[in-house]
Amino acid sequence: MGNYVKPRVILSRCLTGDTCRWDAEIIKDDIIDKLKPLVSFIPVCPELEIGLEVPRERVRIISKDNELRLLQLNTNKDLTLVMKKFSEAFLESMRGIDGVILKAGSPSCGIGDSKVYADMTSDTIKDETSGFFAAEVLKRFPHLAVETDIRLKDTAVREDFWIRLFALARFRVVKTMCSLPDLVKFHEENKFLFKGYDREEYELMEQTIRDNKETRPDSIIRVYAEHFYRCLIRKS
Ligand code: SF4
Repeated sequence: MGNYVKPRVILSRCLTGDTCRWDAEIIKDDIIDKLKPLVSFIPVCPELEIGLEVPRERVRIISKDNELRLLQLNTNKDLTLVMKKFSEAFLESMRGIDGVILKAGSPSCGIGDSKVYADMTSDTIKDETSGFFAAEVLKRFPHLAVETDIRLKDTAVREDFWIRLFALARFRVVKTMCSLPDLVKFHEENKFLFKGYDREEYELMEQTIRDNKETRPDSIIRVYAEHFYRCLIRKS
């Protein structure tokens, strides 16, 4: 197994410089540009995928009867269900994903920083949450490297994201090959990293390899994977 595996990353399409934002604004993101040769991006704009156009009226998250709804200003279209259905179907169709980079603050793509408004007519902000697409990403892929463009501007966050992303990509190949020698090699090459991330999970990964030599590789790799994902889970 070669050492370099290109990570597969779902990306908010507007971060590629595409004019898919509500106001057709083009975003220039140097970090994404630098990553292009190193990563296989899978760009997606959830708002275009559900049939909205460019330019379009903005959408907003509204808290109504203790429930969050995705509504479009002026047209008053309720997009909650269609966005939920698209997010579920799209993410269900994804295979072999290592990470996700989403546009901060968006009612569809933001992670924990999308504004929740009291209603459609005022600008009163009640809370912050994740956008509808992002919420489904977090639900389905809690173990992957998931960040926003804004958080990635912080050097420490970015370094942590790269480390986790490339480790996840390499482990994806180990899982696919289902070979015990590859698993042992992967573990040996990364063990100091794992130890630094989470000592307890690292010990369990070691134990899984040590104690299970006689059982089937797929079951060893399955148990190892549980500890590996927990070991690398985002800590901040
Ligand atoms: S933030 Fe998400 S929904 Fe909005 S334009 Fe970008 S990709 Fe599309």
